[in-house]
Amino acid sequence: MRTVYLNGEYMPENEAHVSIFDRGFLMADGVYEVTSVLGGKLIDFDGHAVRLQRSLDELDMKSPISKEDLLEVHRELVRANGIEEGMIYLQITRGAPGDRDFVFPDPETTDPTIVLFTQNKPGLADSPAAKKGMKVISIDDIRWGRRDIKTVQLLYPSMGKMMAKKAGADDAWMIEDGYVTEGTSNNAYIVKGNKIITRALSNDILHGITRAAVLRFAKEAQMEVEERNFTIDEAKEADEAFITSASTFVMPVVQIDDAVLGEGVPGRVAPRLREIYLDESLKAAV
Ligand code: PLP
Repeated sequence: MRTVYLNGEYMPENEAHVSIFDRGFLMADGVYEVTSVLGGKLIDFDGHAVRLQRSLDELDMKSPISKEDLLEVHRELVRANGIEEGMIYLQITRGAPGDRDFVFPDPETTDPTIVLFTQNKPGLADSPAAKKGMKVISIDDIRWGRRDIKTVQLLYPSMGKMMAKKAGADDAWMIEDGYVTEGTSNNAYIVKGNKIITRALSNDILHGITRAAVLRFAKEAQMEVEERNFTIDEAKEADEAFITSASTFVMPVVQIDDAVLGEGVPGRVAPRLREIYLDESLKAAV
């Protein structure tokens, strides 16, 4: 039984209840973050806290907690649940005004709801999938136009994962006007020669915290990075491909639809980036 955090209190998971009028439940009116834990410490906490504030600001939602207190809650949940490797899920919604209405409730009278819980994942860093590489399928990107805000509207990404599963693949890359936007829950990259290519930041994709760190480490290691759109056809002819996210770090992609990349096993660049990312993030973990 986990200890979770709900609206200022720690409690056993079976005692944590949220109202049926919560706008997260009724309208997907909420934002979230996932922070990974390695060696009992938080990876990239600062980046997640900054992006959380940005998501809240973009939706005119007030934060129920300061950054310092948020760090304390993360640490306490790691401690209370004995997490060595895993994730902390955080969600903030616009709260429960006591009825259903499209109009936002007055923030003076309706407090946001804040929930955090841990997910224990021993072996997260030493994942067998990272050695084997993953298969992705391509699907249309039919999400809304503000993918830069990390909202809990995850129905289509969830459907995308199911389409991948049905096709015997691990995930789906989403395509808009022929160009890859991102994976269902990760940013997408291809490698050509020594060049790492990934879509530039805009409202079309989530600004991955792992993406920012990986691109910084790649540049520091003198690797060439090009931030531009790439088509799904270009991806199928790439030397390598990979994804990044807080829970998968850097994960090689070895097949896109029917196209096998290179030898069908992880290449040179993605495993190297994974190693650098894990080393450097562990050093900076808090
Ligand atoms: N893109 C999408 C759509 C995501 O849902 C996520 C993570 O959940 C990412 C990218 C990767 O972001 P991060 O590296 O901050 O986990």
